Amino acid sequence: MQAAKKMIFDQLSGIYEKKEIESLSMLIFEKVLGLTRIQVHLRHNETIAAANLVQIKEIINRLAQFEPIQYIFGETEFYGCVFKVNPSVLIPRPETEELVDWIINDYKHLSPAILDIGTGSGCIPISLVKNLQGASAEGWDISISALHVASENARANTANVNFQCVDILNLTDLPSRVEYDILVSNPPYVTTVDKELMQKNVTHFEPHIALFVPDSDPLIFYRKIAEMATKYLKIGGHLYLEINEKSGIEMIDLLFSKGFTNITQRKDINGKDRMIRCEKPNLITEHN
Ligand code: GLN
Repeated sequence: MQAAKKMIFDQLSGIYEKKEIESLSMLIFEKVLGLTRIQVHLRHNETIAAANLVQIKEIINRLAQFEPIQYIFGETEFYGCVFKVNPSVLIPRPETEELVDWIINDYKHLSPAILDIGTGSGCIPISLVKNLQGASAEGWDISISALHVASENARANTANVNFQCVDILNLTDLPSRVEYDILVSNPPYVTTVDKELMQKNVTHFEPHIALFVPDSDPLIFYRKIAEMATKYLKIGGHLYLEINEKSGIEMIDLLFSKGFTNITQRKDINGKDRMIRCEKPNLITEHN
């Protein structure tokens, strides 16, 4: 294992930080050798079989091209479950786990009806139905290939979620459905300015349709989702959103103008304004 570790470091230094190579090499050994973290430590003096070395070399080559390790492995972990991922879905992020955790704490023992808009891998509704007893969930996405991944993830995690192909920006004349206790979304929110600061492994590999918004209208999805929430949420129901850390104030204004109450913003683990929750009041009045 020592020689393989040296190979990983030699080929990836200068491309990734030392700490990151350390964690990548652990992930590689765990995956390729089928070992736990502890076993990797205990067996660090053992020799690796030739076939496994070939696999490791292939992984290193792909990492050197900035391909995310989650796409190379075809899976990642989110809120304690394994999710299949491929380049048609965004890799689930820890920030989104925090949003899911917020909902789970609020709705424990309440069996809510949930709609996730822009579901991608399905990680949000799948985690919610698995952790909220009696909950029901729908996941909408514009991308058929994302919906395939989401359905597979629901099956693999034995979660019952109804996935549908919906283009929300072109949903006109929203009917009043009043069906859901919770609307949740992590829509695209990255602008061109933010893109400049992002890593190649995100911008070159992850689906642009799930990430980017026009600079001329960065809140395009949020406006539509808020409008949907005014019609689809039950009275007292909640809208939960993951947001761009720079949009906190505008998001509060937007939700206030649509008539929502109890608007609460939360920071993510990195101290960035990342999540917002609001409630549909008894009588919803728009403030223009
Ligand atoms: N948080 C993601 C990132 O910065 C973006 C997610 C999104 O656009 N919804 O890579």
